[in-house]
Amino acid sequence: MRTVAVTKIGSLRDPDESTRGRIGVVDFPEQPLGPEDVRIRVAYSAICGSDPHLAEGFFGTDVPIGLGHELSGVVEELGERAHRNGLRVGDRVAGNFLRFCGTCRPCQEGRQQFCEHIQDYNRPGMAETVTWHESQVYRLPDDVSLLKGCLLEPTSVAVRIADKTRIRVGDRVAICGGGPIGQLALQVMKMHGATSLTMIEPIADRRAMARRHGADYIIDPVNEDQDAVAGEITGGRGFDVVIDASGSTRAVRGLLDIAAKGATVVYGAMYPEDYELPLNLSNHLYLKELTLTGVFVSPYAFPRALQILPHLDVEELTRSVFELEDAADAFAMHVSGRYPKVVIRCNDLEEVRR
Ligand SMILES: [Zn+2]
Ligand SMILES: [Zn+2]
Repeated sequence: MRTVAVTKIGSLRDPDESTRGRIGVVDFPEQPLGPEDVRIRVAYSAICGSDPHLAEGFFGTDVPIGLGHELSGVVEELGERAHRNGLRVGDRVAGNFLRFCGTCRPCQEGRQQFCEHIQDYNRPGMAETVTWHESQVYRLPDDVSLLKGCLLEPTSVAVRIADKTRIRVGDRVAICGGGPIGQLALQVMKMHGATSLTMIEPIADRRAMARRHGADYIIDPVNEDQDAVAGEITGGRGFDVVIDASGSTRAVRGLLDIAAKGATVVYGAMYPEDYELPLNLSNHLYLKELTLTGVFVSPYAFPRALQILPHLDVEELTRSVFELEDAADAFAMHVSGRYPKVVIRCNDLEEVRR
């Protein structure tokens, strides 16, 4: 079964071709279908901002490393007991690449993100098929296309980010980073009642995109004085909620300074393993009582992500589509930053049964 994988560890941005990481299409065996499993013929699988980190060896260096966790597809086969969700062969679905076992202590304590068996079903979905436990699979609403459906997982991350902001009515919100998670978080926070929404983003196209989707203010952190503009927007108080969706060590540096007293700062990205954030305990935690938090994965968020997906405008996140065999080109496009999101078509599935 053709699967997109990291075939050589290294930075995909390395200008030196001899040390650059490499993406290729390899042949992996199809996963076995257990009695509670669902085999999905994958339609679309989107490249995630975390994928280049995998190429750098963040989660291990044994190549090939299969990729793909943002996917949609059609149910091809059901295990004999996989009927608790009413799934049927032919259903258009998307889902959670992680299975929360429900049995371990963290699962029992309502903290599925720390499930001790979280990797058991984490299988590469940038492939012809993927086999998941039925608890990971969600039927797409009729008005959500398979192309849009592959964004269910990143939408779940935006929902989880929104949960962790603990936003109150009237809060001023800033989002740093206008990539896919930042753009989705923007729409989700708008839905969540943010009436003052600021996007901080160095790329003009992404600032413009944020404007089109509800940003009230934008800050260009490279050519503007971020602190000064944030002060103008918030009357000198700072933002009540600050979300980082950039994963950029340069960008996160100034975020604690534009956070208001009592603000919540959510780090909603992946960061280099060796990066340490400068934190002034007296200023940031004692005087300002900031709450700093992060997002690892998105438990309890998928049903709500499914609920809001029809209401999100993601057309601009699904414009760049590559065929499976052109995965290396797709990743080159992703790294170029020309499109906020790049999608791979793993099978050409007609959109029947709408
Ligand atoms: Zn992702
Ligand atoms: Zn568990």
